[in-house]
Amino acid sequence: MITELHTEWTVQDICSGFVYNELEGKGLFGMDGKLTIQPEYQRNYIYADGKKDVAVIDSVLKGYPIGLIYFNRTENGQLEVLDGQQRITSLGRFITSRFAIKVNGMEQYFRGLSQEQQQQILNTKLLIYVCEGTEEEIKAWFKTINIVGVPLNEQEKLNAIYSGSFVTLAKEEFSNSQNSNIDKWSSYIKAVANRQEFLACALGWVSKGNIDGYMSMHRRDDNINELKTYFNSVIDWVDCVFPEVYSEMQTIEWGRLYEEHHKKPYNPKEIGVKVAELYADEYVRNKKGIFEYVLGGCVDSKLLEIRIFEERDKKTVYTKQTQEAQAKGVSNCPLCALGNDNNKTRIWKITEMDADHVTAWSKGGSTDISNCQMLCKVHNRAKGNK
Ligand SMILES: [Zn+2]
Repeated sequence: MITELHTEWTVQDICSGFVYNELEGKGLFGMDGKLTIQPEYQRNYIYADGKKDVAVIDSVLKGYPIGLIYFNRTENGQLEVLDGQQRITSLGRFITSRFAIKVNGMEQYFRGLSQEQQQQILNTKLLIYVCEGTEEEIKAWFKTINIVGVPLNEQEKLNAIYSGSFVTLAKEEFSNSQNSNIDKWSSYIKAVANRQEFLACALGWVSKGNIDGYMSMHRRDDNINELKTYFNSVIDWVDCVFPEVYSEMQTIEWGRLYEEHHKKPYNPKEIGVKVAELYADEYVRNKKGIFEYVLGGCVDSKLLEIRIFEERDKKTVYTKQTQEAQAKGVSNCPLCALGNDNNKTRIWKITEMDADHVTAWSKGGSTDISNCQMLCKVHNRAKGNK
């Protein structure tokens, strides 16, 4: 790989003919079209938070260095930004007056700055390495230099490694914060579009967790039909089956639940009533588990982490049960006492027993002392959730 250091290019040179795509939040071109600011393996612009972008301009105004910038020279002689896209986009957006900075406590856009200040920014020289090498070399190197600033997350790294037509199309759909579907998606997925989190979710679903393999396989595809169709099927299914939206829905593994349950018929009205009932049930400690519990036919109450009995209630019940059993000469486990084996008269220690709902929680039984009995561990397990 060949590298050459450029110290003569100014902010004005780099930002000349700056093109910014407001919809996608991308700096597109600079140097009068010669520089591609956001090649497809780059992440979306995430400096527009009024802090990082302002800090870039402050640094330039104070004469502080803003760090090394790396360009890659492509085969046709064009340049693309390898590292520095966020900083260049901040500079370009500022000198085209898209955001303001505070100067002596006053909000100032570029066009409102004094001539000297404008010139100071435009004439600032940047430190830029231009590299030439194979795609593999450049990508390997890009991964090592991208350790400054906000680190790339897993999906952003995968987008860089598997860059190509598939990633470009997938980002247009899933990483575009202007996509009008994002509101709907956000009911069921906790994600930020420009950090590639919806994309990661969609890929995780369609690939059943093998995102890496899926991206590699589809890298050169000229469409994202399967990815999009599968994702929409999952979202539409959740949307149909559960008429109400609850905040816990954002943390559910919908991809897995869709695979397990989408072929069964459900009555959304009944489901809605059941879910609301469980949400109102103070014994249900794990609200997140409600959706899977209901989809599974309200059988596996372990998912709900039903409130358990207090230690002191268990002790009280154990003592009473044991005294009565000893008086009668039978086991202190009422189910053992009914049997005919050696345990019929066995007195269990409290550590050998578990608390059980006399009337099951699912049949309306409460979790207080009046509904508590101690069973030996074997009988308690056998009784299970019946
Ligand atoms: Zn027993």
